[in-house]
Amino acid sequence: MSEPLVARMRGFGTTIFAEMSALAVRTGAINLGQGFPDEDGPAAMLEAAVEAIRGGGNQYPPGPGLPELREAVAAQRLDRYGLAYDPATEVYVTVGATEGIAASVLALAGPGDEVIAFEPTYDSYAATVALAGATLRPVLLRPDGDRFTFDPDELRAAVTPRTRLLLVNSPHNPAGTVFTREELQVIADVCREHDLVAVTDEVYEYLTYDGARHVPLATLEGMRERTLTVSSVGKTFSVTGWKTGWVTGPAAYVRAVQTVKQFLTYATGGPWQRATAYALRHETPWVEELRRSLEAKRDRLVTGLEAAGFKTFRPQGTYFVQADIRPLGFTDGMELARALPERAGVVAIPTQVFYQRPENGAHFVRFAFCKRESVIDEAVERLSRLS
Ligand SMILES: *Cc1c(COP(=O)(O)O)cnc(C)c1O
Repeated sequence: MSEPLVARMRGFGTTIFAEMSALAVRTGAINLGQGFPDEDGPAAMLEAAVEAIRGGGNQYPPGPGLPELREAVAAQRLDRYGLAYDPATEVYVTVGATEGIAASVLALAGPGDEVIAFEPTYDSYAATVALAGATLRPVLLRPDGDRFTFDPDELRAAVTPRTRLLLVNSPHNPAGTVFTREELQVIADVCREHDLVAVTDEVYEYLTYDGARHVPLATLEGMRERTLTVSSVGKTFSVTGWKTGWVTGPAAYVRAVQTVKQFLTYATGGPWQRATAYALRHETPWVEELRRSLEAKRDRLVTGLEAAGFKTFRPQGTYFVQADIRPLGFTDGMELARALPERAGVVAIPTQVFYQRPENGAHFVRFAFCKRESVIDEAVERLSRLS
């Protein structure tokens, strides 16, 4: 039989997360691969979802999202960042950030267009750009001291007459970078100079460490009018299974997103929206506690990985640590990640899967620290037997 999959999606077969999580189950290894927390979000928020279901909120919500969630998102953008959005026309609720990004890219880029993204890229980006029939132009994030950043000249050089969009993820998964205002200024200058639209993925907006502050690209001069900002409930409130996100931006761009999203999923799960609106309004102190505990867990994992012989890059945000495997005598992260569950009883993700050319990330693996302390300690103990 011939290959049933449409040509542009070939090469996006099974994700590494499915493969590695299956390995974790088969070998009983500790899963520091996929980035989901092993503790629940705030109890009152969970209760709000239950109440929404029991209270009859179970039919199609409005396509753009429940007004109470759109208003809560607008209030959050204003209170936290000073960005004003009209909840009626400039906020749109999506099935997680994933759909928000997909609908934005599908709405704004098509065949012949180019989309720039910093590499390593979150795994949905390349597939989404391919779905749109557009071409992904990666700009590498390279190690610089103990963080990853880009070379402004490489970003400028990546722009061509066909460039339509810049996809910007900060705090960045998997590199752990929180872009500084100076880095964002370079990005903003490129967008303005070449009349590009930015789509920003800010799902880790609350999860930053060591005093690093998340700065939305839309707050930079001249950027609000050309930026679609995407975020979601999953990472902020430890409910990655809820798949409830939102896009904010100028009305004309949000309308473009609406045109696509309404035919992908039409609307987004109602009960989750109600509970998310509650959480955005009332549970930010809970998020601050989460942030603090994640910062401590990051330190625990970084210290343990260094003791085990890895060279680590201390993330300024997100759930993830990048580890260079070469000090341990390994060179290929894919090989190591496939062997690690049997050899050490731990699962990690080979960072090379986040690159167009795997050799650019060959010697890195990614470990998640959004796990209970006892789990991190046990993983570190197991990894210490590697050397
Ligand atoms: C987890 C994650 C997402 C997906 O968010 P959902 O709301 O679950 O769709 C998007 N981008 C990045 C960088 C992520 O880590």
